[in-house]
Amino acid sequence: MARMDADEIRRIYLQFMVERGHVVIPRAPLIPHNDPTTLFTGSGMQPLLPYLLGQDHPDGHRLTDSQTCLRVQDIDEVGDNRHTTFFEMLGNWSLGDYFKTEQLAQFWEFLTERVGLDPNRIYVSCFSGDPANGIGKDTESAAIWTELFATAGISADQVDLGTEERGGEVGSQGARIAFYSKKNWWCRGGKAENMPVGEPGGPDSEVFYLYPAIEHDPAYGRHCHQNCDCGRFIELGNSVFMEYKKAETGFEPLPRRNVDYGGGLARIAAASIDSPTCTGSTCCGPSSTSCRNCPASPTRPTPLLCGSSPTTCAVRPSLRSTG
Ligand SMILES: [Zn+2]
Repeated sequence: MARMDADEIRRIYLQFMVERGHVVIPRAPLIPHNDPTTLFTGSGMQPLLPYLLGQDHPDGHRLTDSQTCLRVQDIDEVGDNRHTTFFEMLGNWSLGDYFKTEQLAQFWEFLTERVGLDPNRIYVSCFSGDPANGIGKDTESAAIWTELFATAGISADQVDLGTEERGGEVGSQGARIAFYSKKNWWCRGGKAENMPVGEPGGPDSEVFYLYPAIEHDPAYGRHCHQNCDCGRFIELGNSVFMEYKKAETGFEPLPRRNVDYGGGLARIAAASIDSPTCTGSTCCGPSSTSCRNCPASPTRPTPLLCGSSPTTCAVRPSLRSTG
């Protein structure tokens, strides 16, 4: 497997998207201008919201960038192997241009052929549907994933889990494609019922990387599954198929169907060096060696300020022990 650092992954991602007709747009400032709804830029799509709602973007229908983000809503989860408050998100958007087939195929190709991740360790999730709002199960994405896995000689079983609680009860049983309801519906409010009228949203499909050396922790449920919080599966990116707008009753189609993809640079960089901790990725410092001063476990690394390498410690000498 190729071992790439985060700078290299950012560079090849943007180049890969340019090859597919995308324009690299400048990243937005971390503190957004003219947006009274939020203190910080929390995702790559945030500055693009007017365009996702239908406004024409001056750079066209295919955009890409690498956006620095700050999220404090996950702060209670910082200290596990994958959550940070500050991170960099790789993004690409189709504004009424390509849709599910092209997006899932290009994400798969990027991970398996450009970054060189092992396809046998890739698992995905898709939307199981929202009957109350008349939105069906996303069998289209599942069919696309089935074909992509088949190109690597992998048969992709499916399992309907619905909720994370049910996922913990029955597990994904090795299925490559797991269906969830709320976990695979994307909107800024988190839940369809919380969306104000006019708010965009849609089903999404997440990609996870399996770290087989990490044992499932029964504290998170009897069995493991894609969205289990034990750290065995780590989400690398999410493709949102933004095609609906909340109406007075239910949903109506947006004027055009969009793709809104966001992927964690630190997580992809960690996968590239087969490290289950994104704080040990090259975003936070080289991590190919261990540091005797910084004991870290695979699931509970010494978080944030200190990675797992002497180089990182040298950056912050005050964190080193004197022994
Ligand atoms: Zn688990």
